[in-house]
Amino acid sequence: MEIEEAARAILKSKKSVALTGAGISVESGIPDFRSPGGLWSKYDPLEYGHIGSFRSNPGKVWKMLLEIDQLLDRANPNVAHDVLAELEKRGFLNAVITQNIDSLHQKAGSVNVIEYHGHNRSLRCEACGKTYPKSEVDFSKIPPVCACGGLLRPEFVFFGEPIPSRERQLAETAATGCDVMLVIGTSGSVAPANYLPHIAKRHGATIVEINPGETELPKNIIDITIREKAGSALKKILEYINSETKK
Ligand code: NAD
Repeated sequence: MEIEEAARAILKSKKSVALTGAGISVESGIPDFRSPGGLWSKYDPLEYGHIGSFRSNPGKVWKMLLEIDQLLDRANPNVAHDVLAELEKRGFLNAVITQNIDSLHQKAGSVNVIEYHGHNRSLRCEACGKTYPKSEVDFSKIPPVCACGGLLRPEFVFFGEPIPSRERQLAETAATGCDVMLVIGTSGSVAPANYLPHIAKRHGATIVEINPGETELPKNIIDITIREKAGSALKKILEYINSETKK
């Protein structure tokens, strides 16, 4: 019932957008912040993921980042990433705004991906701003440093840092202009990403939430709630769209 409603909203929409969070990559083996056990029981994200911690103890934070990197680099897109890429290819989805840094949407074939919190593909010097693809960085000494001697940092946003203005603008434009927003696998607890569904709703969009658990997004902004894992829900939505477009 909710699946069909969501699929019909997508079929009717002129511009639909997906906002994704860590939950969409859980089925690819990357734990979110909420699941018990795993990486985040060892490293408190608020401690290790804060820019203050990185600046005061970059070696300690880099040690954790390299462990995460191994996990992210080994991961492959799952059916949820695949369906979003397929929907974009067929003209049913205009953009993916992702809070994730794992590049799995691009690996699945999505093209218009707004990486709201950045990505883990390259590093930037804190001192001179030079960027390096990860493959060109010498990690034999931690923390890694730039040719100028400055500290290298990942090109994603730590807690306590602002969203890069280009990504913020692209995401807000997408949220303002869409008539359907699929909110997938995000707890809605990280600002300012959690304002994007509010912006979309204020501009008249239908908000579809796909999440097996409860979230912090207020119920009154959600039009359709699908309490399922992203993979199975999106697969069923695509099947419904296929059956309707074959007629
Ligand atoms: P979060 O960890 O706060 O919440 C994840 C949400 O996903 C929860 O609501 C959970 O119920 C839901 N979920 C779990 N399994 C799911 C599944 N199979 N299908 C659909 N939903 C599922 O994540 P957040 O809201 O994205 O905020 C945390 C911040 O940390 C974000 O910036 C996030 O991108 C980042 N982060 C990124 C990664 C990654 O790049 N893969 C991993 C962990 C955290």
